[in-house]
Amino acid sequence: DPGGNVRVVVRVRAFLPREIERDAECLIHMDPVSQQTTLLVPTDNDPANARARSRKVMEEKSFTFDNSFWSHDTEDEHYATQEDVYDSLGEEFLDHNFEGYHTCIFAYGQTGSGKSYTMMGTPDHPGLIPRTCEDLFERIAAAQEETPNISYNVRVSYFEVYNEHVRDLLVPVVPHQAPYYLKIRESPTEGPYVKDLTEVPVRSLHEILRYMRIGDNNRTVASTKMNDTSSRSHAVFTIMLKQIHHDLETDETTERSSRIRLVDLAGSERAKSTEATGARLREGSNINKSLTTLGRVIAALADPKQQRARPGSSAARKDTSVVPYRDSILTWLLKDSLGGNSKTAMIACIAPSDYEETLSTLRYADQAKRIRTRAVVNQVDSI
Ligand code: ADP
Ligand code: MG
Repeated sequence: DPGGNVRVVVRVRAFLPREIERDAECLIHMDPVSQQTTLLVPTDNDPANARARSRKVMEEKSFTFDNSFWSHDTEDEHYATQEDVYDSLGEEFLDHNFEGYHTCIFAYGQTGSGKSYTMMGTPDHPGLIPRTCEDLFERIAAAQEETPNISYNVRVSYFEVYNEHVRDLLVPVVPHQAPYYLKIRESPTEGPYVKDLTEVPVRSLHEILRYMRIGDNNRTVASTKMNDTSSRSHAVFTIMLKQIHHDLETDETTERSSRIRLVDLAGSERAKSTEATGARLREGSNINKSLTTLGRVIAALADPKQQRARPGSSAARKDTSVVPYRDSILTWLLKDSLGGNSKTAMIACIAPSDYEETLSTLRYADQAKRIRTRAVVNQVDSI
């Protein structure tokens, strides 16, 4: 099925200590059968929802997603663990990578909603990225036993987009030195890419996890220096998988290449007006630029006007050209993942007791469901 819709799932996290302390109320209900997620109206006087309450009438809202992951209380029989999330999303996406498709999974949501927990996880509860790496090398090891005429080549890169700059996370942060930013180029065959980005070959799980940690540490080092950039930066972890199949009978070689993109987006909360001054304003507006552009790109791609246009017609071509990918670094780089050659999933992460931010995230996710991508098997026959 090449013309698939973006897969959209939602995950609600447990209360954090500060929420338990203020006796916060869980506003999320998930139906395990229909996969419906419902946002309830707060009944208490939780100060976190006071602003929303003073500004508008709150209503109960329901949305249906491909999956609704209940990760709120471990006691519940429907509690979704890190493994459950991998099993119902990551594993299938890795199947597609072995078939030769590019994939992209991105986590969206306000700061503190569980994006990094879902994508990276903790040493005790690894998330989608380390689980994908583990499964990848397990499958390669098994295939090397069964089909010795296929050889595998794996490379990895890790970068972040911060304040409309691209920084290579596999290059060490040099203290007292201005960070080194990379440029974007666009190739007619490969699309947009980061010029001079480090792409390291990896031969084992141990090696790839080492680079994952190096990159993650570099992100953290920079974030303590620059006012918590990690909630303001978009981190893109990419695995390139190449399968070289040598047919012993015909002596033909076939190459399948796929790209596995795993993205931890910046926090989706709108910049608070009190912070919007001076350097913070500039920074904030640039960070908003990537996220607001992402919103515009998603809106343009989800627009039913485009779906009515006959594929390949001049109307369709004209409409596609107005998707504002190039208005921000993030959307330019994710162009293929959002509206092109990729099977794509969005994980909408939500906090349990924030009516306003959660409604905004659920609406965003609801719109993303309508986006269709056109994934093709990336295969070349040579010799
Ligand atoms: P974000 O990356 O969206 O800012 P984090 O992933 O850092 O948010 O999550 C915020 C906090 O909540 C962290 O302490 C994290 O460990 C915890 N957390 C998030 N999701 C879960 C979950 N499903 N189960 C347990 N703890 C979680
Ligand atoms: Mg995070």
